[in-house]
Amino acid sequence: MRYDSSPAFAAAQDAADPLARFRAEFHLPPGPDGQPAAYLCGNSLGLLPRGARAAVEAEFVAWETRGVEGHFRGERPWTTYQDALAAPAARLVGAHEAEVVIMNTLTVNLHLLLVSFYQPTATRYKVLMEGGAFPSDQYALESQARLHGLDPAEAIVEMLPRPGEHTLRTADIEAKIAELGDSLATIIFGGLNYYTGQVYDMAAITRAGHAVGATVGFDLAHAAGNVPLHLHDWDVDYACWCTYKYLNSGPGGTSGVYIHERFHHRPDLLRLAGWWGHDPAARFEMKKGFQPTPGAAGWQLSCGQILPMAVHRASLDVFEAAGGLTALRAKSEKLTGYLEFLIQQLGRPASELEIITPADPARRGCQLSLLVHRRGRALFEHLAAAGIIGDWREPNVIRLAPVPLYNSFEDVRRAGAALAEFYDQPLQDAQPVEARAMAAEATPATT
Ligand SMILES: *Cc1c(COP(=O)(O)O)cnc(C)c1O
Repeated sequence: MRYDSSPAFAAAQDAADPLARFRAEFHLPPGPDGQPAAYLCGNSLGLLPRGARAAVEAEFVAWETRGVEGHFRGERPWTTYQDALAAPAARLVGAHEAEVVIMNTLTVNLHLLLVSFYQPTATRYKVLMEGGAFPSDQYALESQARLHGLDPAEAIVEMLPRPGEHTLRTADIEAKIAELGDSLATIIFGGLNYYTGQVYDMAAITRAGHAVGATVGFDLAHAAGNVPLHLHDWDVDYACWCTYKYLNSGPGGTSGVYIHERFHHRPDLLRLAGWWGHDPAARFEMKKGFQPTPGAAGWQLSCGQILPMAVHRASLDVFEAAGGLTALRAKSEKLTGYLEFLIQQLGRPASELEIITPADPARRGCQLSLLVHRRGRALFEHLAAAGIIGDWREPNVIRLAPVPLYNSFEDVRRAGAALAEFYDQPLQDAQPVEARAMAAEATPATT
């Protein structure tokens, strides 16, 4: 496949795209001209699936017509509502159904998981994180260290890229894990760094962590629904993710948790308990003495949040209809490669504009992070005025994420055209580039 920047190329790609029909499953917000914007911001808040309103309305009707009986009756009784979400969510993250539960929100779940999987001792008390992790994760870990009476500056080790580099090398992460050795209690990395868009080698990190006796977990906020995951096969111990980014389940939407099955029959494993994690057969006996449900479901605290879960159900239905991530991933690599091509055609010097996301498609998802050394804010505003919705991260990064479920090649071409306009360059002068050749040239700097 040869990329080129003509409208005809984008139109031909869209016409041949087997997933193009899924765009109609979403509400596309209008840009300044009233036409649908090129929404390249699914990394921050995914779009509203058309089925969500009906899914929520069905629960309003159940509530309206059944009241409390809605817990036990009707098509989807609320007491077991979340059970139907585990299987499709597990397929997206590569887990067994019993290893996944949908509940709470992301940072809450991160804390719950750390209670079980970060249990420092006098000698094994350190946590390894990626440097500059999403702030909520930093604050969660700081406060977890304090909860155990530790100084966060002592307990938390942050892994930074080498000087002059923007992303981490797997070999350096492995070396750091080996160096920390038996002082390391747990590793908690993003699966995909929110700022650079780098996908970490989760299998390698897990292997290295287990080799020194640490537990290994991932915050998959930017990875779930974006890149293929094989949590069980990678032997990951624990993970959590939000559902409002690539999983399109609405602002403040519910969250997912994964816990490897080896922990499912470990009632000794410390956890914070609530009645919804109690054995469901005995839940309504209201007796003393917590007996966890086997599986990730045993970490539930509260009765299910049905309205956000209804949105999530509608969103998971779209992923199921699209056949999971395999076809989506193939389109995603093309779309993101196309955006990369259009940016490269601008020929801007790295001192002005550089892509800090890895060039190797295996080490990135949808998102490209543009480090804009000059006039960054002006560029961002120019894009917004042209109906290109991305997002801005201080101090000077623009993130653009073409999402294969609802973005088109034309969306990406429009973004390229708006960038070219900003730099006062004709987009038409682009030299076609072989997509495969580009992938082959990709530097293995992140492996
Ligand atoms: C988006 C994101 C969050 C947000 O946490 P909430 O609890 O959902 O507000 C946390 N961590 C990471 C890595 C994120 O990308």
